[in-house]
Amino acid sequence: MYDYYLQKKEDEDHASDQLKTRGLRSFDGIDAWTLEYIDLRHVQPVIEAFDEDTSGYVTIQESFALRMAYWAVGWRVCMTAYRDKILSTLDSMGDLLENILTPNRRIRSHGINAERKLEDREYNTYAYEYYQKSKPLAKKAKLKQAVIAPSMLYLLYLLNGEIEGYTKDEFVRDLVNECVKDIRGCFEAGAPRVSIDFTEGRLAAKKDPRNPWTGASLLQTFIDLINQVLDRFSPEERKNIGIHTCPGGDCDSVHSKDVDYHELLPSLFQINAGYFLIQCSSETNKEKVYKEIGEHLRSDAMGVKQIAFVGVINPLDPKVETPEEICEHLIHASKFIPVDQLGATDDCGFSPFSVDVKPKHGSPDFARDVAFQKIANRVKGVKLASEKLGV
Ligand SMILES: [Zn+2]
Repeated sequence: MYDYYLQKKEDEDHASDQLKTRGLRSFDGIDAWTLEYIDLRHVQPVIEAFDEDTSGYVTIQESFALRMAYWAVGWRVCMTAYRDKILSTLDSMGDLLENILTPNRRIRSHGINAERKLEDREYNTYAYEYYQKSKPLAKKAKLKQAVIAPSMLYLLYLLNGEIEGYTKDEFVRDLVNECVKDIRGCFEAGAPRVSIDFTEGRLAAKKDPRNPWTGASLLQTFIDLINQVLDRFSPEERKNIGIHTCPGGDCDSVHSKDVDYHELLPSLFQINAGYFLIQCSSETNKEKVYKEIGEHLRSDAMGVKQIAFVGVINPLDPKVETPEEICEHLIHASKFIPVDQLGATDDCGFSPFSVDVKPKHGSPDFARDVAFQKIANRVKGVKLASEKLGV
């Protein structure tokens, strides 16, 4: 049999051009690797494969060599091949990190390293390392830091079932420890405030068949997980730990804007954080959002008064909001949210403005200038509103 296939391969090597032009499958190209395993070392499993053929006939056909080789060594070869494929995919994902927008790079690199080195059980890069590098660049203003939410990394573990040798409980314990270390590290590096980026909160209610976890009612699990992290901080520290929610925003793409905010808002304030950065400017029904915030925001969340910073700037729209418009939104919000618990923020980070590519609005649009004008107007708008509200 070995000789037969060897001969076939050699014949095809000679006639390969002819085969290609006739559109035929070449043994060399697809099955040649099997020759390595149809030999004396594997004679026993190959004989078993013959015996298993209940037809009583053994025929030499195109797939036969494959079948023999699989019988002899298939499982091991497949597993090794898949392992190599996974590792090379992770490597190429690592190489691609350079091309990913900076804010997303951190999330992706956490992911890659968690997948590659589960046994390490710790982050590869902590947010405070970015803080240490960027702090010297902030000459005038105080600089806060965002950290990845434990709920986002929770999705790295199997949705159902357990990984052999690493139970879900162990994973969650490691995750909470790492998240606490990440936040504490930011405070120690000098960050006055640390925000947990909880973009998956609203997405959790999306019920998107392409993402099975969105249909698994995980919101409460996420909230409990974040609270496990917050439990490790004093009320004084939690005053300066916040939660950001938004429906996504990179490259004009929103992942969960179609999910009713009501799915998230009442539960969101169960999180014992001191402040919330809530995307709102891009909502069509802002009053509904203000109302719901006002109803559920707590004045005592395990010792801290929660502050709601409502979004008054839309980073997905190059149109610069005027201070008057911003002021108007805040006055409107103050009818539902106590003024001593009300603040203003941008709907999300300005990463969409770190590049001029904005598919919906044409490009370029002098992104940085627009971003700074928006921020300056927010400050002016807040000042106007404070004067009108007498605070
Ligand atoms: Zn956001």
